Amino acid sequence: MIVYDFDSLIGINRSEGTSSMGRSTNLSLINQNIYTHIKDKFQNTHIQSGSISQNDTIIETEEKWSVMVIRDPFLLRQFCDDVRFTRSRSQIEEEEAEMRRANQRIKCVQCDDFYIEQENKMGVCAHHDGFVYDNHSSNVEHWTQRAAIEQLLKEEADAVRQPHNALLTSEQKEQLERQKQRFKFICCNRTVQAAGLTNGCKRGQHCQPNVTLDQWERACDQNNEYQQKLCDLLRRRIQ
Ligand SMILES: [Zn+2]
Ligand SMILES: [Zn+2]
Repeated sequence: MIVYDFDSLIGINRSEGTSSMGRSTNLSLINQNIYTHIKDKFQNTHIQSGSISQNDTIIETEEKWSVMVIRDPFLLRQFCDDVRFTRSRSQIEEEEAEMRRANQRIKCVQCDDFYIEQENKMGVCAHHDGFVYDNHSSNVEHWTQRAAIEQLLKEEADAVRQPHNALLTSEQKEQLERQKQRFKFICCNRTVQAAGLTNGCKRGQHCQPNVTLDQWERACDQNNEYQQKLCDLLRRRIQ
């Protein structure tokens, strides 16, 4: 019997790549030659059951054993595929579940975009991690991101319904345009647009699938650093 420690003997090379489909991780074997050699050895191992000769004596049974110790899931799958090793039902189900998880589209509440777990790397999610304030109000009113966007959309819709809007002077129109710019993100002071959460100032990972929009918004609202920033802003204006 011979025992192989696959992870030490073969090893895996991981490289990050970027393509039109997004970022991906490429895995490859480091010691391909040793891999091929061990694979051949494994396939040639066998147990020859005893055969009975003419004078009823059993000829000895020959047993050649190969034991593989593999920790890396990629290496294990690659090897099992190459030697067509029989998988148990639970293994097959587990692999299928993993495959489903890997390809499942998850909605990120931070940037409102979809992602798959494998592509969730640092820097892929651009978002604002702070609440919104009304820069025109005397007490720099605090708004949630969602409420500010809804308010802008409502005002836009209301403006269309106002029949006298066509008669506005250019000064009044300018005033209306300025009104639209009043909401700012506390994290970066950029203007909130009715079109949504574009131009995020922070780059990180997408949120975990179990995080709800309410939880994310609460985290933005309760950020101590930004609450302090708003207090300072208010204090300086009152002085
Ligand atoms: Zn921001
Ligand atoms: Zn995201």
